[in-house]
Amino acid sequence: MKDGFGRTIEYLRVSVTDRCNLRCVYCMPAEGLKPMRHSDILRYEEIARLVRIFASLGVKKLRLTGGEPLVRRNLDTLVSMLKRIDGIERVALTTNGLLLSEQLPALIRAGLDAVNISLDTTDPAAFRAITRGEGPERVMEAIEACARVPNLAVKLNCVPTTQNAEGLCDLVSYANGLGVPLRFIELMPIGPGRTMKGLPEAEVLERLTACFGAWTPDRDTEGEKCRVFRCGDRTIGFISPMTHRFCSRCDRIRLTSDGKLKTCLEYPPQLDLRAMLSEPDEAIRAAMIQTILNKPAAHRFSERAADTDPRRMAQIGG
Ligand code: SAM
Ligand code: SF4
Repeated sequence: MKDGFGRTIEYLRVSVTDRCNLRCVYCMPAEGLKPMRHSDILRYEEIARLVRIFASLGVKKLRLTGGEPLVRRNLDTLVSMLKRIDGIERVALTTNGLLLSEQLPALIRAGLDAVNISLDTTDPAAFRAITRGEGPERVMEAIEACARVPNLAVKLNCVPTTQNAEGLCDLVSYANGLGVPLRFIELMPIGPGRTMKGLPEAEVLERLTACFGAWTPDRDTEGEKCRVFRCGDRTIGFISPMTHRFCSRCDRIRLTSDGKLKTCLEYPPQLDLRAMLSEPDEAIRAAMIQTILNKPAAHRFSERAADTDPRRMAQIGG
């Protein structure tokens, strides 16, 4: 369906948990967050029912996220349930990769179409400082295993900050060497990200130019959410919600793990779908339509609005 600004909404990010096995500095405090009660988290059957209703409104693409989605038991079961829903063309996953190698075969059997793996650095000391966890070897093993799976679309996500700035060129060489697309995602002022210094796109480009030479923007991706740059046979992407806002083309909505519908990352949830689960599909569908029609025109991260969603990325479903 189209929202109130004529944007076609066909992409739903589904957070399956707020829990995580890492504590990335821009996402969580060192002590972690108070976890939601298990009884407040949507069951797989409930997620599938809501997705069926979203699909009837035109949602075609799903991305499972969290927290860390792979800490939720039997995620492959959810993937196969979602793949069977009429209208759903693609089920993808965003993960920190730590538990991916062991779960990959089951996820592939379940029909997973794509995986985005977050890797901010290949440098072990910087990885430990950023994630407050062990790696990055396990994550890199998983990336390499994914790259070998035919028909699985694999991408790497990196949030550039002062903490991984020195390793950005190595990360580009690693990703390009594997033939896996790498995208730099600008730090957003959410949770601890509010007080950190992210590197804006221009600064990342400057650093990569010093290593590899000049990067040329791919004109076909101008104005897109992910803008591609090339340098010889190297390619990188930028998702820059702060310096190159793409809200006018935003086709996404979010379902949090406790069943709230969010139509913009920055605004508080607009609809409590979990509270509606006892109602018939038609009532839920009508409420979804009304909420999607009211999707805000754009985020207000730069304005520091008083009613910005106070939840952290792991609680929203990044
Ligand atoms: N745990 C999984 C992971 O790390 O890929 C999925 C959830 S995580 C919240 C999704 C993405 O959000 C990650 O790529 C992470 O780097 C990014 N992220 C978290 N906090 C952010 C922030 N303040 N600004 C920009 N990206 C952020
Ligand atoms: Fe966990 Fe992902 Fe947040 Fe890192 S970014 S703390 S891996 S949810």
